[in-house]
Amino acid sequence: MSASRLQTSNLAENVGTQPVFEVTGLTKHFGGIQALNNISFRLHKEDITALIGPNGAGKSTFINVVAGRFQPSSGKVFFQGRNIAGLPAHEVAHLGLSRTFQLEDLFTGMTVLENVMVGCHVRNKTGILSAGLRLPSTRAREKRIKEEAFEILKFIGLDDKAEEKTTKLPLGERKMLGVARALAMKPQLMMLDEPAGGLAAHEVAKLTDLIHKLKEEGMAFMIVEHNMPFIMAISQRIVVLNYGVKIAEGPPEEIKQDLQVIKAYLGGSI
Ligand code: ADP
Ligand code: MG
Repeated sequence: MSASRLQTSNLAENVGTQPVFEVTGLTKHFGGIQALNNISFRLHKEDITALIGPNGAGKSTFINVVAGRFQPSSGKVFFQGRNIAGLPAHEVAHLGLSRTFQLEDLFTGMTVLENVMVGCHVRNKTGILSAGLRLPSTRAREKRIKEEAFEILKFIGLDDKAEEKTTKLPLGERKMLGVARALAMKPQLMMLDEPAGGLAAHEVAKLTDLIHKLKEEGMAFMIVEHNMPFIMAISQRIVVLNYGVKIAEGPPEEIKQDLQVIKAYLGGSI
């Protein structure tokens, strides 16, 4: 099935519902490399949307541009009724768009609890510095943030590891902690960069449960992932990138049969 047919059916299906997020013509160059080339799609809260594609396709760049880590070369990103393209990362986060990182970027000198507290601080606009100085005005707030962070760890099932250094955690738990930290921002839209990469089957199952639980609470998701069985099971919409170009978009059962997609994944093993 051609990409254009998939796109047409996509628009027809979603008539009448308001997308929580929409990109139009999003483009990003790094020097001569066109990492994203005129990407457009809509994301609806009702659907868990996956962004897939081979290595170097532009998936992480997409998250980085949308989340304000990189400036787009051109294009628009609509979220919360406004164009957020080019806003700095902290402003995007404040508006309710949280992301995790592909590689673990947890603060390794800190405990599990402290890592989540950083996310809470960002949301509450309390400086980590003023918290560190323990001014009287910030002490009460600090206590509240600590309790909040602990609640998130409980929710995610990591409360028994609250006082451990992050370096002690196995990969699966570090990934869950990455999600916990993004959750601390209380986002409306969460973008996960390869959350299942390197996880054992029981950890993927746990992650799947967590995503479903949060979706029930009204959170929207975009998931970048290589683990095809996970993606095919969890997502309702899939956007496929290859060399920075959107080559297909549609529900998993259509994408599975899309020949261009299969070709992009050498050997057709999706
Ligand atoms: P994916 O996440 O799909 O594997 P990336 O978004 O990481 O792909 O990369 C897309 C392309 O952009 C690749 O060619 C990569 O080398 C390039 N790229 C990504 N980040 C940078 C950067 N900071 N500077 C220069 N080139 C980059
Ligand atoms: Mg990547």
